[in-house]
Amino acid sequence: MISRLVLASNNAGKLREFRRLLEPLGLEVVPQAELGVAETDEPHLTFVENALAKARHASAQTGLPALADDSGICVDALGGAPGVRSARYAGEPKSDARNNAALVEALAGIADRRAHYYCVLVLVRHADDPQPMIAEGAWYGRIVDAPRGSGGFGYDPHFEDAVTGLTGAELPLETKNGLSHRGQAMRALTTHLEAARRHGPEGPPLGRMPACEARRSSGER
Ligand code: IMP
Repeated sequence: MISRLVLASNNAGKLREFRRLLEPLGLEVVPQAELGVAETDEPHLTFVENALAKARHASAQTGLPALADDSGICVDALGGAPGVRSARYAGEPKSDARNNAALVEALAGIADRRAHYYCVLVLVRHADDPQPMIAEGAWYGRIVDAPRGSGGFGYDPHFEDAVTGLTGAELPLETKNGLSHRGQAMRALTTHLEAARRHGPEGPPLGRMPACEARRSSGER
């Protein structure tokens, strides 16, 4: 059973949210930077492929199970952009301020402000895990030109939640986690983890080889 895992992110905003989300799980979670793991490339077209690449990289570097998040903001009127390129929407080096300015500029004169955040979480037991645990979440709202609030990170000052009418940066951390794409994905992942634990202390799909793998490694067909 997993008791210690590496968190495959160096994003301070994400780490703050994960710390709170992971507290109840009783897992020791170590950010990858503390283990000397640098960020890996995110060359793929989908969030899930990028999250998988990050999780496998962190696990390969540390020998620990790894949890990765790939997330971003998708704006309807921009055909889903910035999407997987959210962190680097305004180019290198990464900058929240320049990303937000680019987004507001891209939407100038456009009335349709609908957008959603999307997050995929991937948990691998080891670098070559053939059965990664995957969970996702989406958070709906709209983009506002004038930034509001001082919390959160990234696009939060410009993302107005559809339900409360507050921006991500105006919401207290606990409330944001209750609504957000990341919070939803974390709760779905927790449900998977708890189901796995119910199979026993070494239960599948975490910690014990699934039957098909066990058969293969014992030479059985
Ligand atoms: P990546 O998952 O490291 O590729 O980067 C995700 C990027 O999406 C972040 O750098 C932010 O720009 C944006 N993003 C993802 N989740 C959030 C959020 O909860 N609030 C604000 N921005 C976010």
